[in-house]
Amino acid sequence: MKSTGSNSTAKAFARLHGVAPAGVWSAPGRVNLIGEHTDYNDGFVLPFAIPQRTWVAAAPREDGVITLASVVDGEVVTAPPLRVGSLGPGGVQGWAAYPAGVAWVLRQQGITGGADLVIAGDVPHGSGLSSSHSLEVATALALLGLAGVEASKSDVAQWVQQAENDFVGAPTGLLDQTASLCCTEAHALFLDVRSGKQEQVPFDAARYGLEVLVIDTRVSHSLVESGYAERRAGCEEAARLRGVAAVRDLDTEAGLPEELQPLVRHVITENARVLKTVELLRENRYAEIGPLLSASHASLRDDYRVSCVELDVAAEAAEKAGALGARMIGGGFGGSAIALVPAEIRADVERAVFEAFAVQGFGPPRTFTAVPAAGAGRDV
Ligand code: ADP
Ligand code: MG
Repeated sequence: MKSTGSNSTAKAFARLHGVAPAGVWSAPGRVNLIGEHTDYNDGFVLPFAIPQRTWVAAAPREDGVITLASVVDGEVVTAPPLRVGSLGPGGVQGWAAYPAGVAWVLRQQGITGGADLVIAGDVPHGSGLSSSHSLEVATALALLGLAGVEASKSDVAQWVQQAENDFVGAPTGLLDQTASLCCTEAHALFLDVRSGKQEQVPFDAARYGLEVLVIDTRVSHSLVESGYAERRAGCEEAARLRGVAAVRDLDTEAGLPEELQPLVRHVITENARVLKTVELLRENRYAEIGPLLSASHASLRDDYRVSCVELDVAAEAAEKAGALGARMIGGGFGGSAIALVPAEIRADVERAVFEAFAVQGFGPPRTFTAVPAAGAGRDV
């Protein structure tokens, strides 16, 4: 698939290196329709890929060095060259840690060659739309492609998880990279994280007069990392206390220490909401998904406690203006919310959200309608 994004990334590569890249690979960001904080509990998720992507133009190098350049807002940002043989966790800081982490993991798979990588993307950073995973997935496909190594999507997903967990140091699950790798146009991906079983569920909201409006609050609170790790540890503790592999295996929170009960209740009810949403999508009962989204938000706000005032204001304002349902997406403490909105009142809902933000004294959010797009692959 050729696109303006891959063409301009190839051009940026040619400007920087004086030759055309050997190829361009890309990977999308994602919106998770429902199923939040369930992936690391062996549960269910239902993401779709968004049209915004990260492109990586790449060419091999003989000297075992990886060079990195990223085009951000028209400016080229470079990172110090990395020697594949001496990569290690903690050794690379900032944005370069994401591609470096991928190179480090792939080295353990025998991929030791160097590469020039030029990156560009239009997934907003830190907005809960998973720009980091789209960068990691595109980098992984580029390095594998240069090495001529075929790998299964589930292997690539595991490697990217290793890169993010062990090199970057973010304790994230499998949702984001699996979505980026496996989603397809016009579908949501129903994924059972435990078994790896996937189903492409047709998802065409427009056909039913609806839109998925993304509301990027443009805030990211410092709790993101610590809050995520703490919730995850709480879930693991609950599973350990009950002698099961994961919270997925529990059907009640009763009997657990009081502070763990709301966490477990969220995961149990959220998994059920994913299953219900899939059922409704299969029956083309799109409007009925709305209340499930709102219930998910309430559960994330009150039980899992990963929302924040900006996300709550966004969801509430959207609903008041006629959205059928709304919820925060992603890890929480900032980032984006989604609202399921009848197309004819989309502009009213947007206006209401902007007004509510202004009244609260928040900076303006960013909004767009998300339509399920293609997953990762080689562009050129
Ligand atoms: P999210 O994944 O929700 O967008 P993260 O904080 O996990 O938020 O990841 C965002 C980070 O990923 C950015 O701050 C940056 O370090 C890195 N990143 C993503 N896309 C790019 C890009 N095109 N070029 C350079 N760095 C990027
Ligand atoms: Mg991320």
